[in-house]
Amino acid sequence: MTVLEIDGVGKAYGAGADAFTAIDEVSFTTHPGELACIVGPSGCGKTTLLRCVAGLLAPSTGTVRLDDTPVTAPPRAMALVFQDYSRSLLPWMTVHANVVLPLKARRIPRAHRDELARDALAAVGLDGHAHKHPWQMSGGMQQRAAIARALAYEPEILLLDEPFASVDAQTRADLEDLLLRVWTRTGLTVLLVTHDIDEAVYLGDRVVVLSRAPARVKEMVDIDLPRPRDQIGTKELPRFAHLRAHIFSSIKAESRGVDNDSPHTANPSPEPETGWNDNPGLPEPDPNGLAAAPTTGGD
Ligand code: ADP
Ligand code: MG
Repeated sequence: MTVLEIDGVGKAYGAGADAFTAIDEVSFTTHPGELACIVGPSGCGKTTLLRCVAGLLAPSTGTVRLDDTPVTAPPRAMALVFQDYSRSLLPWMTVHANVVLPLKARRIPRAHRDELARDALAAVGLDGHAHKHPWQMSGGMQQRAAIARALAYEPEILLLDEPFASVDAQTRADLEDLLLRVWTRTGLTVLLVTHDIDEAVYLGDRVVVLSRAPARVKEMVDIDLPRPRDQIGTKELPRFAHLRAHIFSSIKAESRGVDNDSPHTANPSPEPETGWNDNPGLPEPDPNGLAAAPTTGGD
C-alpha cells in the first residue's frame, strides 16, 4: 500500500525581504490505511502543508514522497476535498456530471465512469440525487457530493482540508461518521486537517499537532480509543476527555507562545482538565480570498 512521506517540508511565500515563512520544517510518514488528523493554531500553515502534500504548491525546502517518488504535481493516487464545497462543485453541472468530470480527464470509458459515480454517490447516501444541481441541495449534501467525487476517483490517499467546517453541528457529526464508514470499507489512507480538536480525537488513529507559525510538528499523539467509534459513547470515555484536554492545552500554549510541553509525547498521561471546556473556536484566515461558505443547514 501507498506510503506518504513528508520529509523536512518548509514553505515560504514570496521572496527576498518580503518572504513570509508559513512552514518551518514538517516531517512525518503516514502508515498505510491510517486516518491521521492534523491540528494546530489558526494560521500555522495547515492548508499550506496540505497543498504541498497534494502537489499543488512546491515546497521551498524538503520533499513530499509517495512510495519513494517525489511529488511534483497532483499525483493520480491522491484526491483532495476542500472546505468550501460551494466553490469546488461546478454549479452549472449536475451532481453526476461533477462526479464524473475528473474521470473523463482520466479517459475512463463512459460505462465505467457511470458505475464509479453510482457507487460513490451511494456510499455517501446521495443515490437518487445525481440529477440535481448543487444549488438544489443543502450544504451537507453538497459536501457529500464533493466527497463522492473524491471517492469515485479511486484514490489511495484522501486529503481533506477542514471538510466539515461549513456545516451545522448535526450535519458535521453525520459527515464524520460517513467518513469513518467509507474509510473502514475502503482501507484508504486519510489525512485530514481540522481546527476542531474533538473531531481530530474522534476520527483519528493519530493526531499531528503543529506548532504556531511557522509550523513544525509539536507532537504526535496516538489515539488509542477503541473502534468502531460512536458520537456519544466514545466522547463519554474518560480517555477521550484526557486526549482532548492534552491536545487543547498543547495548542493553547502555542497560541500564547508558551512552550510548556515536551515534544513527541506518544501517549499523553491524564492531565488536569483545566480550560478544556471552552471552545477554542479558532477562526481561519482566508488566504485564498475565498469567502467562508455559509452554513446552509442540514439535510
Ligand atoms: P492554516 O490553514 O493553518 O490556517 P494557512 O496555511 O492557510 O494556515 O496559512 C499560513 C500562513 O501563510 C498564514 O499567515 C497565511 O496568511 C499565509 N499565507 C497563506 N497563503 C498565502 C499566500 N498565497 N501568500 C502569502 N501568504 C500566505
Ligand atoms: Mg486552513
